[in-house]
Amino acid sequence: MQFQNLLTFARELDQQDPLRIYRDAFHFPVVNHRPVIYFTGNSLGLQPKRTKAFVDEIMTDWKDLAVEGHFYAGKPWWDYHEQLAKPLASVVGANPEEITVMNTLTVNLHLMMVSFYRPDANRNKILVEEKAFPSDQYMINSQVKFHGLDPASAIVELRKRPGEHHWRTADILAKIEEVGEELALVLIGGVNYYNGQVFDMEKITKTARDKGAIVGWDLAHAVGNVALDLHRWGVDFAAWCSYKYMNSGPGNASGVFVHERHLGKTDIPRFEGWWGTKKESRFLMKPEFEPIDTADAWQLSNAPVLALAPYLASLELFEEVGMEALIKKRRLITDYLEFIIQEVGREVKGNFEIITPEDRGCQLSVLLHGEGRSLFDYLMKEGVIVDWREPNVIRLAPAPFYCSFEDMYRFGQILKAGIESKSL
Ligand SMILES: *Cc1c(COP(=O)(O)O)cnc(C)c1O
Repeated sequence: MQFQNLLTFARELDQQDPLRIYRDAFHFPVVNHRPVIYFTGNSLGLQPKRTKAFVDEIMTDWKDLAVEGHFYAGKPWWDYHEQLAKPLASVVGANPEEITVMNTLTVNLHLMMVSFYRPDANRNKILVEEKAFPSDQYMINSQVKFHGLDPASAIVELRKRPGEHHWRTADILAKIEEVGEELALVLIGGVNYYNGQVFDMEKITKTARDKGAIVGWDLAHAVGNVALDLHRWGVDFAAWCSYKYMNSGPGNASGVFVHERHLGKTDIPRFEGWWGTKKESRFLMKPEFEPIDTADAWQLSNAPVLALAPYLASLELFEEVGMEALIKKRRLITDYLEFIIQEVGREVKGNFEIITPEDRGCQLSVLLHGEGRSLFDYLMKEGVIVDWREPNVIRLAPAPFYCSFEDMYRFGQILKAGIESKSL
């Protein structure tokens, strides 16, 4: 499609957008008396309007039923989390049995490492991307030390080539071959949080598994954003948070995928709790742990239903719309945003560069060579919510659920005015 940097053109795209009605399904913060242009759905998604009713339902059941709500609430609390498995399975390409929701992301990555990082004298190396998200770095480092190993030798980092801003798949595959029989685990962010790159999860998973390694993915920036087919790709485990593209609210619960081949096992090392035991015998309070046949075997505590309610509300929206339609709009709106940024760059001779490679999801990361922090401050003051990552990158994610093409056009005008005002 031949794009144009014109309001009429942007409005035309909005007219043709089958998801345009969903903009009204979300609450937008207001700055300068108008809804913000929201580019941080990759950090905290907007609140769906229907979410409050889901939370209110729990509050009402608690008020009216107290402890009886566990079994007699409209949506009983004792197995409330099970409702999330089916809709999530279609978002990540899994069987519902392979999905569970619990805790938060870093906690779940630790729990997965307990089960799936089993280093021995020969096979103990973990392959990670360089400059992984800090929490992932701390998590992996501490796990390695927990096993009495030295992170400096056990952790192998995938590096970008000098002067390049993205990882090359061929380099990653070559590294897997090189580490070979010593490779215990591959654990990478499926979509990199900094440059927005989507890794070739299918190819990397296959290559590493052929070498006998376990493969896990941190899908924080991938879930609800890009096409995932975890079961078919043969991924061993994955975990993600729900508050970014999934719009479930600040700090909310994390989803976990464990491949079918690891389910129903009693000999798998695992930290266990009473919500992971078979439901039929749970309340017999027996000393033996009988793992549920699904990924729920990793559950520890009874479900935090007040947190799960907003996640369930958001999943209802994902079920309604479907990933295919979201991905289709995401491609178009991200391409349009890229076009707008390039147009503005040309018009004002802006000193910035998009560092996100072609294999991308929603996010464009813009490296500001000349502009820096003051441009970021200007955008925020004008009602454009973006985020800033040191040393000089602005991340823009036009989440397809609620961003409009007109937003992209207006952003371009504000960006242009911001750069021009400073060069006067
Ligand atoms: C957002 C994000 C996290 C956040 O972890 P929490 O435990 O939810 O605080 C972790 N890893 C990656 C790659 C992320 O993008």
